[in-house]
Amino acid sequence: MNYDVVVGLEIHAELSTNTKAFCTCSADFGADPNTHICPVCTGQPGALPIINHGAVEYAIRAGLTFDCDINRYTKFERKNYFYPDLPKAYQISQLDLPICVNGKVELSTGTVVRINNIHLEEDAGKLFHDDFYGQSLADYNRCSVPLIEIVTEPDMHSAEEAVEFVSKIGLYLKYLNVCDAKMQEGSIRADVNISIKEKGSEKLGNRTEIKNLNSFRSIQRAIEYEVKRQSEILDNGGTVVQETRKFDDTMGTTSSMRSKENANDYRYFPEPDIMSIVFTEEDIEEARRNIPLLPHQRVDKYINEYGLTDEDARVLTLEKYLSDFYDETVAIYPQYKNVSNLFQTEIMRRVKDTEEEVVPISAEGFAKVCEMTDKNIVNRNDAKTIIRIMFEEGGEPEEIAKANNFIVVEDAGETEKFIEELLDSNPDLVKQYFDGKTNMFGFFMGQTNRALRGKATPTLVRECLEKALDKRKP
Ligand SMILES: [Zn+2]
Repeated sequence: MNYDVVVGLEIHAELSTNTKAFCTCSADFGADPNTHICPVCTGQPGALPIINHGAVEYAIRAGLTFDCDINRYTKFERKNYFYPDLPKAYQISQLDLPICVNGKVELSTGTVVRINNIHLEEDAGKLFHDDFYGQSLADYNRCSVPLIEIVTEPDMHSAEEAVEFVSKIGLYLKYLNVCDAKMQEGSIRADVNISIKEKGSEKLGNRTEIKNLNSFRSIQRAIEYEVKRQSEILDNGGTVVQETRKFDDTMGTTSSMRSKENANDYRYFPEPDIMSIVFTEEDIEEARRNIPLLPHQRVDKYINEYGLTDEDARVLTLEKYLSDFYDETVAIYPQYKNVSNLFQTEIMRRVKDTEEEVVPISAEGFAKVCEMTDKNIVNRNDAKTIIRIMFEEGGEPEEIAKANNFIVVEDAGETEKFIEELLDSNPDLVKQYFDGKTNMFGFFMGQTNRALRGKATPTLVRECLEKALDKRKP
């Protein structure tokens, strides 16, 4: 039978504040285990939380960006559960009055995904179950790192739409400077709710929830597997059990974890140690002022102000750090189109697939290479070599150009003289050219470029060669 797929998401995004949500410990990723902890985030008796207002402001920024209403009154709850990664045995979260409600995000398919709410909460620690002689180890550095959870309505209809949604949210959070969105470090994770229903039917089927997916690929595969599994159950007349399942990345399969819990199971109750917050219009306006240009606005700017094509503007904004680097370069050397060309061919391919998300050369240096190329001080091929050397060994472009004899000192007289001699000593090739073998032109160009390396640009060689051939036209 044919089924409609229904997908909803809960995205957890770690906020990139300096300190944690409810204490002043560092929220940085990657420190030695249990070095960023204190009595508050490890839940010692009598320790009192203090809210990080920066994290609250980040949540408002995200809400405004995704078209949410900001609740003028917001408060926190305790979500109780016991697990060794959570020493307090409860998580400070929000249930009744989250900071942001009723948002939406449009996908390229035209589907509008409604956002039910965005709430602020704290992360739990991390357990390592590897081979520690049968033991597990706990690292509480991540305890109380601020998170926003973005909860959607079940508005997506395929694995592709879910992946696009997560990737769009990640990109926008990066542009907002509120989350680094590094899935491989777990700073964005998604819980996926999946159900299927008879094609065209209004009645939703029983859903399963798959927890903690932390790559686009696992989101895609988990949904595909679950759709197939649920379809087979319904085809055979069975009923899908509403439950929480886990995804096995190696096998590409899901398996039952526990029966689906609901809010009551967590015995939510008001957090007595944190005051509720009332936002003024000024608070919200301040967050709005902190929203930088977003990807679609940068695309508009690149097209309308910089005169780039739609395609170039789209490619340049796919990653924030690349778009930032391009912006820095054109701020120094505003030849938008030329910088874009050299950037796409020589910089983007070198940093593609690296995890660090940095361009390891300076924008000043790159601007200089663009300028030297435009002014024919170095030829394009040598410019590529200069960039390669800057990437591999570092150094200033002008020094590299000098050291490698790349600086072109144009000598039109010598160029003409060389070409005259070249054509005179190859009369048969010249004849072939006029007999219609036009690729001879390229041959003459190549010979000249090679011989006059550093003394003529390809543009000059082309001009002189055209002139010299013209004279010999039979
Ligand atoms: Zn702490």
